[in-house]
This record gives sequence, C-alpha cells and structure tokens, in this order.
Amino acid sequence: MGNTQPRGKKKVPLFGIIQGATYKNLRRECAERIVNLDFPGYGIGGLMIGEPPSLTAEMVDEVNEVIPPNKPRYLMGCGYPEDIVEAVGRGVDLFDCVLPTRNGRTGMAFTSHGKIIIKGSRYAADKAPLDKKCACYTCRNFSRAYLRHLFNAGEALAGRLVSYHNIYFYTKLMSDIRKHISSGTFATFSKKSKQKFDFRNP
Ligand SMILES: [Zn+2]
Repeated sequence: MGNTQPRGKKKVPLFGIIQGATYKNLRRECAERIVNLDFPGYGIGGLMIGEPPSLTAEMVDEVNEVIPPNKPRYLMGCGYPEDIVEAVGRGVDLFDCVLPTRNGRTGMAFTSHGKIIIKGSRYAADKAPLDKKCACYTCRNFSRAYLRHLFNAGEALAGRLVSYHNIYFYTKLMSDIRKHISSGTFATFSKKSKQKFDFRNP
C-alpha cells in the first residue's frame, strides 16, 4: 500500500459532461454553460448509443465549437475502431468503452483484417494466430484453433487471451493515431482506416 495516495489528497481532473441528446440547440446551450464553469476537460455524453454516425458527428462538431481548443475532449462510450478514428478527426482526445473486453470474453477479436468470431468451426484446425500482424502475447503464443478449443471447453482463459489481444489492438491503434497526427499524415491514415475497418456492422 506504499504508493497509495490517501483518499482526497490526489488531484484528479474533474471533467464537465455535456448532454443534450441529438438537439443541436440543447447541446450548444449545455456546452456553453458547462464551459463557463471552467473544467480541466469536457466529456461529451449521451451519444454512441445507436444513433446514426452522421448525427454523432453533427453533435460533436457543435460542442467542439464551444469547448476551448486547449481543453481535452472525451467522447463517452465511443469504442468501435472506425468511430474512434472518425472522432479523432473531429478533435476528440479521449475514449472509453467496454467493447475490447466485453467482446473478447465472448470470443470476438478485433484484428488488422477485420473481426474474427473465434468459436466458428472454420477455425477448428487453423494454426495461424488471431492476427498475423499482431505482436501481442496471445498472437505470439496461441493459434486460432487452440483459442477456439479453450472457448468450447468453457475455459476462462479463452476470454482473457482474446481480451488481451483486443486491448493490445486498441493500444496500437491509438499509438498509430498519435504517430500520424505528429507526422501530419492523419488524414490519409483516417481514410485508409475507414475503408478497412468494418467492426460496427454485424
Ligand atoms: Zn494479438
């Protein structure tokens, strides 16, 4: 417990959350009022709950006009890789979502060549890793066939290994995004990613 800060002593940034559903006027009014309170950062809430992506984009753009440029923006619940890339292009900095682990636990892997549902019989004798381009612990050590076997045997390790891979995939995605922003190539990266990623559709 040596490194644990006593409760209340550590400074944790408090973000103001902007609501307003899909009404532009309410979003703007809420953004103006919350920004007036001068928080260290701002959450954009109440989106990513099944509304059309064009509407999400409209709402994000609306509040981004109000949030000061030097303050971080956090799009709550945004988790599909294609949605993250789109939101970064619109100025969003932070994300959180259950997708990598919730889907990992049920055997869905996010990979550089699309989604894999590992329980499928097509992987029964597949000796390849989940993702040939991935350097994570799961991909370096286990085949698709073995992961499928673990799922079908009801082993808890199955969900952990796929979740581990998914978290690695997301960490790499965010790292690639940062690199492309720094080198001025984000627009090209974004275009290519959006053509390649199709995780949202069932
Ligand atoms: Zn992997």
